[in-house]
Amino acid sequence: MNEKNIDEASLKTRILLASILSCNREELIIKTEEILKKEDEEKFLDGIERISKGYPVEYITNTKEFMKMKFFVNESVLIPRYDTEILVEEVLKIAKNENKKEILELCTGSGIISISLTKYFEEAKIIATDISDEALNIAKRNARSLGQEERIKFVKSDMFEKINRKFDIIVSNPPYIKTDIIEEYSLEYEPKIALDGGEDGLKFYRIIIEEGDKYLNEGGFIILEIGYDQKEEVIEIAKTSNQYKNVTCVKDLNGNDRVIIVQR
Ligand code: GLN
Repeated sequence: MNEKNIDEASLKTRILLASILSCNREELIIKTEEILKKEDEEKFLDGIERISKGYPVEYITNTKEFMKMKFFVNESVLIPRYDTEILVEEVLKIAKNENKKEILELCTGSGIISISLTKYFEEAKIIATDISDEALNIAKRNARSLGQEERIKFVKSDMFEKINRKFDIIVSNPPYIKTDIIEEYSLEYEPKIALDGGEDGLKFYRIIIEEGDKYLNEGGFIILEIGYDQKEEVIEIAKTSNQYKNVTCVKDLNGNDRVIIVQR
């Protein structure tokens, strides 16, 4: 075990314990003398056992923080990544600066992107889609518990299938991992449908970029999260489609290419 593993293990342990004691991580410090109830001790030991085998602590606590909000998650949805906050920040910047309020989100999963957008941009009006009923139920549950359900309409749709109008912004963090590397990616507990981007990982970018112009107002934007090594390929898809003028890429906090923005 190296230092990073130890830090991570210690953080996961504290997340688990805080969840069992219904307090936050900071409050654990003042509870060091507290004796765990028998059932809580069992929950804790059982949790540690599962975490040590690689099971995500977020699925045990059913919680993941994103954009300073607590989202419910379970095995039906991907666990939100901090990198995706960059995507949300970019959409917020463009939406506010350019006054773009009508937003479509594809592949919403647990709803984190749409819910963050309505939370931090009061004028946003969003339609959020997913192909999975389980994911949509979780997204709706999150929207409700975070007070955003009035401004997001959740629709079951395979990509654009049920969409028949235009928007100012289309945003998506679609599945983008290559099919044959998912197994070795140690993501065995997360839903494959939320990760599998087809043979070359680009399947959903092709659909969104090639069909997206039909669902975008003139001057509208498509804003996409991408894998760290997909910039050139996604830009190529946008250029080949010939429907867009500006194409830009934004890096995440680790310096990896993370967001592609194209304008119609
Ligand atoms: N960023 C996620 C990961 O690397 C993948 C998310 C996705 O496919 N949209 O695990």
